[in-house]
Amino acid sequence: SKVRIKKPSWLRVKLPTGENYRMVRSLVDEHKLHTICESGNCPNMGECWGEGTATFMILGNICTRSCGFCAVATGRPDAVDEFEPGRVAHSVKTMRVKHAVITSVDRDDLKDGGSLIWAQTVRAIRNQSPGTTLETLIPDFAGKWENLQNVIDVAPEIVSHNLETVRRLTKEVRIQAKYDRSLEVLFRLKKGGMRTKSGIMLGLGETHEEIIETLEDLSAVNVDIVTLGQYLQPTPKHLPIAEFVTPERFAEYKEYALKLGFRYVESGPLVRSSYHAEKHLF
Ligand code: SF4
Ligand code: SF4
Repeated sequence: SKVRIKKPSWLRVKLPTGENYRMVRSLVDEHKLHTICESGNCPNMGECWGEGTATFMILGNICTRSCGFCAVATGRPDAVDEFEPGRVAHSVKTMRVKHAVITSVDRDDLKDGGSLIWAQTVRAIRNQSPGTTLETLIPDFAGKWENLQNVIDVAPEIVSHNLETVRRLTKEVRIQAKYDRSLEVLFRLKKGGMRTKSGIMLGLGETHEEIIETLEDLSAVNVDIVTLGQYLQPTPKHLPIAEFVTPERFAEYKEYALKLGFRYVESGPLVRSSYHAEKHLF
């Protein structure tokens, strides 16, 4: 059914205000940067930007894919901007970000899948902010493993790739992606020596058993860090919310995931892949 259910109290969040928020806002505007915080209508913007952290989205703000949960625009992307890595690095430096989280749109239109800009961005941040650690939330590069290798070669401290949902719902939630291909991305990252991270959203209609199976699949490819959060529908055109998972159930999944051996588990209604990311360095 498409009945709009009222948001439960645990999803109410603070509005963005304060000095740090204004600094992030002006840097993002001045340098024409994109953040997944804004593009994804993230409910944590007040908190994260208020603490001077944001997740930059590189390779433009138009994606070649059209995932059913995602608020990023789909279409024909702009030409690659060779100066983007430098601008992102400059902002990371100005914001004095200790742990930078970078993500991108998917660029299935490019031969390198955007992997060269990815590598340049990592190098530019390292040049300008040698003390800053990095998490890169990367796409599946359509299974072109030589492109994945370009990211492995610059060895970000954490490399994440989100499974987003359980196997059965993957087609509906991430139409151009494949559950097993994403597991292979994580497998190959681990084989390349990376510290790996993946996340899933709950409340899209998955069953308890399917969540358990997904956690087991992530554990089988030795993922280090896992995040579980509530799916929120960004606009009425996106997939409906099937259910609001209670904080108690999130706590149960956390306990189960820790038993499976993940080194760090972040599980709660407002958890996003990039939420409290600095804690995942361990
Ligand atoms: Fe941005 Fe991630 Fe914080 Fe959301 S949780 S505001 S996407 S940094
Ligand atoms: Fe959004 Fe999917 Fe594109 Fe990622 S690949 S930006 S989740 S539409």
